[in-house]
Amino acid sequence: MARQNLAWTRNIGIMAHIDAGKTTVTENILFVSGRSHRIGSVDDGNTTTDHNPIEKKRGITIQSATVSTAWDWQGQTYQFNLIDTPGHMDFNGEVERSLRVLDGTLALFCGFAGVEAQSRTVWDQADKFGLPRIAFVNKLDRPGADFERVVQQIRDVFGVLALPLQLPWFEGDRFVGLLDLVHERAHYWPEGATDPELRPLPYALLEDFARAKAQLLEDLAGADETFLADYLQDDHLASAESVLAALRRATLSGAIVPVLAGSAFRHIGVQPLLDAVAAFLPSPDMNRESQDNGHFAGLVFKTLTDKFAGRVGFLRVYSGTLRPGDRVLAPRTGELERIARVFRLQGAVREELSEAHAGDIVAITGFRNMISGDTLTDPAHPVTLESIHFPDPVIDLAVELREKGQDNKLGLALNQLAAEDPALRFRTDAQSGQLILSGLGELHLEVVIDRLQEEYGLEVRTGRPAVAYKSSITRSHRHHERLKKQNGGSGQFAELELEVSPLEGGGFVFENAVVGGAIPSQFIPAIEKGVRRALQRGLFEDYPLDGVKARLLDGTFHAKDSDAMSFEACAYNALLAATQAAGPVVLEPVMALDLHVPSTAVGDAIADLNRRRARVMAMEASATAQAVKAEVPLSELFGYVVTLRGLSAGAGRFSMQFSHYAPLQHATPVSA
Ligand code: GDP
Repeated sequence: MARQNLAWTRNIGIMAHIDAGKTTVTENILFVSGRSHRIGSVDDGNTTTDHNPIEKKRGITIQSATVSTAWDWQGQTYQFNLIDTPGHMDFNGEVERSLRVLDGTLALFCGFAGVEAQSRTVWDQADKFGLPRIAFVNKLDRPGADFERVVQQIRDVFGVLALPLQLPWFEGDRFVGLLDLVHERAHYWPEGATDPELRPLPYALLEDFARAKAQLLEDLAGADETFLADYLQDDHLASAESVLAALRRATLSGAIVPVLAGSAFRHIGVQPLLDAVAAFLPSPDMNRESQDNGHFAGLVFKTLTDKFAGRVGFLRVYSGTLRPGDRVLAPRTGELERIARVFRLQGAVREELSEAHAGDIVAITGFRNMISGDTLTDPAHPVTLESIHFPDPVIDLAVELREKGQDNKLGLALNQLAAEDPALRFRTDAQSGQLILSGLGELHLEVVIDRLQEEYGLEVRTGRPAVAYKSSITRSHRHHERLKKQNGGSGQFAELELEVSPLEGGGFVFENAVVGGAIPSQFIPAIEKGVRRALQRGLFEDYPLDGVKARLLDGTFHAKDSDAMSFEACAYNALLAATQAAGPVVLEPVMALDLHVPSTAVGDAIADLNRRRARVMAMEASATAQAVKAEVPLSELFGYVVTLRGLSAGAGRFSMQFSHYAPLQHATPVSA
């Protein structure tokens, strides 16, 4: 494969609230860019990106499938790597990992529903990664859809200069095309056609057009100084080239967000959207992490197990070149991994590559031990790229096999699923012996249960979802622990002094401060292992301990009776005893809630939030609605959908995502 010029590559994602039309837009992009032979329909369950059978069943996009396609613009062929991101709040881990490897995004809005709660969450995430973006207002064929209203909402809600580059064109009630403000031309889509006809600007709309164009130039002049100079000099006229160049600069700097219009369902607006991706979004070499020094480095942002290919990893190459057969280093494990195959995906179809370059997004196979967030690097020039932050699981679900004797298979299946999805954890409860799955929300775990059944043939019964509590400590404590068992022949002996103290920001640190060989160094790993086992076990009702620093201060050993097992057991007891005496607290997950209610219902909504131990952080009023941001303990949010529906006559909307763990103050731990 010839080396693709980076300037003509775009790594982009589509972010949206569920149901805004992301899957339909993706299908249309693949179709008009010529790589897909028919347009899939979500309603028929045969789209290219949603190829996981469960996604089909649920009609939502869960896994971030990557799809590549080519698009010609201004005589150049661009390569677009599209990463699909899920729109449901339970899958924010997935969104985060996709945004991490993108260079720019399309923010998709429903022309009828406008800016919805989840769009705010993903918009904030995209801000965090500093991603330039284009907005696409979809579904303008729907009665009640209103392009201008959505543009205004984008400006109000996100505080950005949203600049429409088109005017929607209606014949009567029928949405038929778009007027292009930059090139001053009209695109008309005959009924059912996927390709537009070029038409002169419709006479009846000339006045609206002139007004919109003047506004665009004025706004752009306010956002880009270079353009301002041209604009003043040329007496408020500007060539399409200078407008395009200014739009590109201002989009890349984040000064503006260009807004395009369309209806993916009617195939309207897809080609201009693709032109805009080429024209305004950044190329991979503009990424803040792109430092191509010729030595290979890449980040695995997703792994999954495929029936045919086995383990597949999705990789963004940040530097150098990767070829099939290369041996690369995974710094996390310290192991060399041999990459067997490198390919690109178009939905479920693979295109084998002989090499992948900096800026590419590709799939790889052949590795043994890899998880999302791993760096792969040239062994001779190792680097470690910043990993991906995965949210903490906050919901527990007890599961039990319906048929006995399949425990091994279940263990294997869960190991595979957890390797694909770092936001999924599982453990056996020390007291009840139950298997507990932990995840980001009820839907997240429901999908896991479905996959166990559909992909592994494992039927499980589940308990009620419960909040995943943790425990921690509030002060330091020093503890002396001794283990001594003498039963005739060889006994067990270990003695140690352990200090625990709170660790700001969570996590765990183990420090060995033993001097002078008081404990032989070969036992230290066993001590750390015992400490870690105790942290897992945790305090109170087996709530795992978090935010603890453990310092091993001193100890003694017995030449004959001391062994690794004795020290491990002694350390386990020492940590539990030490933390119990160090001001232990229960930590509960607190969610950031984003709420929109009609002004008439806001009083009731706030009163209800107060009953739920909420802290209201901000309130913002628009003409008829109020936006409320609050922090609410997760345990208080079960059934919130129903309450909100009741008190707002169905008009309230909310999204939430995990914010932090906080000491539980006024309530006892609960199950849903
Ligand atoms: P996603 O959840 O964001 O991936 O959205 P989908 O692509 O699955 O679309 C959700 C629903 O909206 C489906 O029933 C689509 O057929 C429908 N839809 C998507 N785009 C349009 C559009 O432009 N106009 C109309 N009227 N419906 C659309």
